[in-house]
Amino acid sequence: ATPTAIMVATGRAAREGILLRNVEKLEELNRIEILFTDKTGTLTQGKPEVNRVQYFDMPEKEVLRLVGSAEKYSEHPLARAILRHCMREGVNLEEPVQFQVIAGGGVRAKVRDSQGIERDILIGSGKLIEKNKINLPEIFSDIATTVYASIDGKVQAVFYIIDPIRQETPETIEELKKMGIEITILTGDNPLTARAIAEKLGIKQYFAGVLPNEKAKIVRKYRVEERKIVGMIGDGINDAPALAEANIGIAMGSGTDIAIHTADVTLMKGGLKGVPSLIKLSKLTLKTIK
Ligand code: ADP
Ligand code: MG
Repeated sequence: ATPTAIMVATGRAAREGILLRNVEKLEELNRIEILFTDKTGTLTQGKPEVNRVQYFDMPEKEVLRLVGSAEKYSEHPLARAILRHCMREGVNLEEPVQFQVIAGGGVRAKVRDSQGIERDILIGSGKLIEKNKINLPEIFSDIATTVYASIDGKVQAVFYIIDPIRQETPETIEELKKMGIEITILTGDNPLTARAIAEKLGIKQYFAGVLPNEKAKIVRKYRVEERKIVGMIGDGINDAPALAEANIGIAMGSGTDIAIHTADVTLMKGGLKGVPSLIKLSKLTLKTIK
């Protein structure tokens, strides 16, 4: 590309809130065949709220205090939702004694209970809980995202969390389909929630319960084995490996720093909505070059 064309493209992009880190990618952008998309924060608003909580044999307030304290330093949107719920319930949080993020799974922490006794807390997906050999309780069948909170090896709460679809998502999906781009959801969330969202949006393919490195593996498979030009859009730490693996990695400006640093493009406004603009921009620029 000529320097002038690049300058024009970069300027136009900036006006639309698109930051191009790698201008050389404009040409590939124009040829994206399959777009992988994260769910939380990309298709959905990323502002999940706790809808209901199922408790077991520990007092509710004690459970919320331990869970909220364990999530205190987590940046995950689901953790924020749980924290807001704790605030609404008027719980006072503790400083966790220990805190560890399990990417794409949840958090592990040690927190002192109201008696000053240290408790082992594990919070996250059903998959994470099972992997730690903790029994999963029966849950209400629901399309909400379920987060399990285990205390000393037993699940003491299930949080049912709802994250509404972004207003502009359905029309953007339609627009991308018209451009001949196949869309596939890649999410760490459970299959029920993934299927519900996919059906609502008319998306045929989804991969659920996938860990960050599995997201990357799937992207790689399509790029290398199926020889497709692959785009990936996401916002989280859990998306970074897949963003790096794709021909074009697209991060959301509202996302985590690591996603932004790994991506070729960052969309400063709107969710998926920036992608059609981005592709149109690449077509325009290529025309200018030729
Ligand atoms: P997504 O791909 O939808 O953005 P993630 O890979 O970030 O989801 O997380 C996958 C799953 O791990 C979530 O659906 C949730 O069940 C669990 N999880 C991850 N981090 C947390 C956390 N801090 N608190 C509770 N659950 C979490
Ligand atoms: Mg996400």
